Amino acid sequence: MKRCIFYLLMVGQPGMLCQCKSSNEQPEIIEEIDVWSTFSYPQVDFTNEDLEGKGAEYATYIPNPEQMIKETALRVCQQLYLNPEEVPNVEKIVYRVHDYDGISGKGGEPPVIHVSFSSDYLDKQIKAGASKETIVDEVVGVLVHEMTHAYQQSCKYEGDGWSVIEGIADAVRYREGFIDSSLRQPGGSWTDGYKMTGFFIAWITEYKKPEFLCELNQNVGQDFDWAWEPNIQKLLGVSVESLWGEYQSHLKTLESQN
Ligand SMILES: [Zn+2]
Repeated sequence: MKRCIFYLLMVGQPGMLCQCKSSNEQPEIIEEIDVWSTFSYPQVDFTNEDLEGKGAEYATYIPNPEQMIKETALRVCQQLYLNPEEVPNVEKIVYRVHDYDGISGKGGEPPVIHVSFSSDYLDKQIKAGASKETIVDEVVGVLVHEMTHAYQQSCKYEGDGWSVIEGIADAVRYREGFIDSSLRQPGGSWTDGYKMTGFFIAWITEYKKPEFLCELNQNVGQDFDWAWEPNIQKLLGVSVESLWGEYQSHLKTLESQN
């Protein structure tokens, strides 16, 4: 009997039935599995404190910030965890748009997380002539990065620790479609953090082990003095240097094909 199981990751479609038929058999009905239907969305406390100033246009780009923040929470957790039972208890996201010199930042720890977004940064994007689509992608992409910090496992933010923490945040942002792959170029090091490390983590997840990002996230939380070499050995059984070498060769091959 042919079996058919769908993993539904969309919100609001739990418990649908799948009819799966092969030529001369009766249809077998198996309930679809929506492992994320039990995800607990955070409460959102949104404030735009710069409505009369540089934040005046925020709603033009993000008309429903509460929904956008909740959807981002789910997307981030689906990248970081295999199922909702593993997700830290983030009860509330306090999101504040205000005028300061910077882009965005995360503060606090579960159950209450604070995220700031700079209206000055938004204003600069608008004045630079960025399209609406580019600006929306940037605002949501920045949020994906900060929300990853809200939900990810953490270690000491020093030594190799900061590069894996920032690398995971940009790996999630990239895998969710908010970093252009044209920015992925040969060179650099796995310890550079942000996009450089994020592309590497995403590459391992795509080409070596689909669960790698989730396993790395859990691994980071188990070792306060986290370091690349022993943990890559533990997770993948190879040295980080040889894996980076293989990744670089792949990037050069892709580059030569373009
Ligand atoms: Zn960050």
